[in-house]
Amino acid sequence: MGDCLFCRIIAGEIPSNKVYENDKVFAFRDINPQAPVHVLIVPKKHMDNILACDADTAAALTDAVRAIAEQEGVEQSGFRVVSNCGKDGAQSVNHLHVHLMGGRALAERMA
Ligand code: 5GP
Ligand code: ZN
Repeated sequence: MGDCLFCRIIAGEIPSNKVYENDKVFAFRDINPQAPVHVLIVPKKHMDNILACDADTAAALTDAVRAIAEQEGVEQSGFRVVSNCGKDGAQSVNHLHVHLMGGRALAERMA
């Protein structure tokens, strides 16, 4: 686990506002939300970013996106899913995570 921030959040060593959990993924509210709904979905198994994501984990993340979108009430209005990767992708935490953002009309421009 080392000093990975998201591994420590998954382990409960650092508090978070949990919105969803199953055996493969953990999801919690972003500490600095950029939309009314801003949830981070992370695999429980540490992997650095999407380049290291196996098919089983990708399926678990997709299932979690659907479940959380329904739970947060944005599945009809729509939402955005983003996974930043590496330096130019502005990834700041090196544990794979998917941002799920919604709850208002988001900007058309993404970068
Ligand atoms: P990235 O920039 O790597 O795509 O996204 C990292 C996200 O993690 C950022 O949106 C940031 O606000 C969020 N974040 C950083 N530290 C914490 C924390 O301690 N708790 C929570 N809930 N979110 C965090
Ligand atoms: Zn980690």
